[in-house]
Amino acid sequence: MFTTKIYYIKNKVLEGENIVNKIFTNKKLLIALAIIVYIALMFKIPNIMAKLNLIGGVLFLGYLFAKSKKFKKIKKRGKVLSILGVFTFMLFFGAMPLTSSNTKSNTNVSKDLSIFSKDNNVKEDDKKANEIKENVIKIKEDKNLDEIKVSFIDVGQADSILIQQGNNSMLIDGGNNEDGNLVKEYISKQGIENLDVVIGTHPHEDHIGGLSYVMNSFKVGKVYLPQKMATTKTYENLITTIKNKNISTIKAKIGEQFYIGKAKCTILAPRKQYDKVNDNSIVLKLEFGEKTFLFTGDAEATSEMDMVKSGSLNTVDLLKVGHHGSKTSSCINFLNTITPKYAVISVGKDNKYGHPNEGTIRRLKQVHSEVYRTDKSGTIVVTSDGKNITFNVNSISYDELDKEKEKEIFKDNKNANNNSKVNHVKQSNSNLASVWITETGKKYHSTNHCGKTNSSKATQITLSEAKNRGIKPCDKCHAPI
Ligand SMILES: [Zn+2]
Ligand SMILES: [Zn+2]
Repeated sequence: MFTTKIYYIKNKVLEGENIVNKIFTNKKLLIALAIIVYIALMFKIPNIMAKLNLIGGVLFLGYLFAKSKKFKKIKKRGKVLSILGVFTFMLFFGAMPLTSSNTKSNTNVSKDLSIFSKDNNVKEDDKKANEIKENVIKIKEDKNLDEIKVSFIDVGQADSILIQQGNNSMLIDGGNNEDGNLVKEYISKQGIENLDVVIGTHPHEDHIGGLSYVMNSFKVGKVYLPQKMATTKTYENLITTIKNKNISTIKAKIGEQFYIGKAKCTILAPRKQYDKVNDNSIVLKLEFGEKTFLFTGDAEATSEMDMVKSGSLNTVDLLKVGHHGSKTSSCINFLNTITPKYAVISVGKDNKYGHPNEGTIRRLKQVHSEVYRTDKSGTIVVTSDGKNITFNVNSISYDELDKEKEKEIFKDNKNANNNSKVNHVKQSNSNLASVWITETGKKYHSTNHCGKTNSSKATQITLSEAKNRGIKPCDKCHAPI
C-alpha cells in the first residue's frame, strides 16, 4: 500500500517532468512564453529594482537558450531545477519590494525614474539614481507602514502639523514666516524628501507664513488652498512659490477625498464663502483604522455650526482645537457633536491674545477631553496603530489649566526674574502650581527646557507632589519653593 503510493507519486513526478521537458525543449514556445510573462510583469511592476531583476532573469534565460546544446545535455531534473531556480530568483528579488503595501511610493520611485531618463546631466543622473536606491531601501526598511504619526510642531502662536503614514506625508500649515526653517528641519529629521500633500488652511501668516520656505525645500505633490483668495504679501509669496515650482493647486471642495498612505482624508469645510478669513479655514477629517482626527485650522463657531447642521460630523478621537483655543472657536454644540477624547491646542507661551481662552478650556472639560498644549509641552507627537492613540507628553491637568492660577505663577515668575539675586518664587497659595521633573533629575524646574533637561522626557507634577517626593527646587530656572 505504502510502496504503491510512492510509485504513484513517483509516476506523477515523472509525468510532470515529461510535460515540463516537452515545454522546455520547444524553443519557440518557450521564447514566446518568456516574452509574454516579461511584458506582463513589466507592466505590473512599477519598481525599478523589480524591473532590473526581471531583466536579469530574462537575460539569464536567453543565455541558457543560446547555449542550448549544452542545455540539452543537462539531465531532466537539472533542467527543471535550473529553470525553477531562475524563476525563484526573479520572484524573490524582483517582486520583494512589491510586498510592501505602499504602491503609492513605488509609483513615486517610477516617477523619479521617468525624470531620471529624461535628464541629460550625468551628475544629476547619479544623484537621482542614489535617490532611487535610497527610496527602495526605505520601502524595504519601513516597519511602520501600519502606524500613523501626527506631529504638532511647536511653532509658538501658530499652526504646523506634519502627518506621516508609511512612506507618505502631509503638512497642514507651516507656522509664521520665521518658522520656515524650523518646520523644514523637523520634516528633514523624519527622513522625508517628498511631501505628498501640503494644506494651507487659510491665508493668515501664522498658518501659511513658513510654507513658501518649506515648499522650496522639498518636492511637493499637490497643494490644497481655500477657495477665497487673499491679497496679503505672505499669500502672494506662497502663490509665487507654487507657480515657480509648478505644483498642482487644488481649491478645496467639500467632500473631496484623498489618501495619505492608508489614511483617508475628507474635506469638511469651508461649506461656503465666509466674510471672516478664519471661517474659510479648510477643515480636514482624517480616518486611520478605527481612529478619527479632525484638523480645523482657525475655523470659528460659524463654520463649526454649519458643519454640525450639515450632519457631516461624527465622533472624533482627536481634535486640533480651532484658532489656538480662542473663545470664538470650539462652541459647545460643535464639541457635543464630536466629543473629542483628546484636544490639542497649538498656542504660543504668554501670547498677547490670551489664548487659550478660559471658556474654551471649560467647554473642553465639559465634554471630558484630555487637553494637550504646545506652549506647555513643546512639539506634541501622536502615534496610532488605528486602534490606540499614544502621546509623547502628558496631558495638562485641569487644575493647571485654571487661568487665574496660571496668571499668579506668571506674575511671581516675572518678579523673581526681575530680582537680580537668585530668589525662588514665593507662592503663598500655589502648591497646586505645576513644576517639571525628569525621571533621573534630583531637582524640579519651572520649565521643561531648563539647562540640559530633555523637554520630551520631562513630566509635570504639582509643586506639593514634588515636595512630597523630596525633590529640591532648581536655582537656574527659579523653580518655585
Ligand atoms: Zn487665522
Ligand atoms: Zn491662527
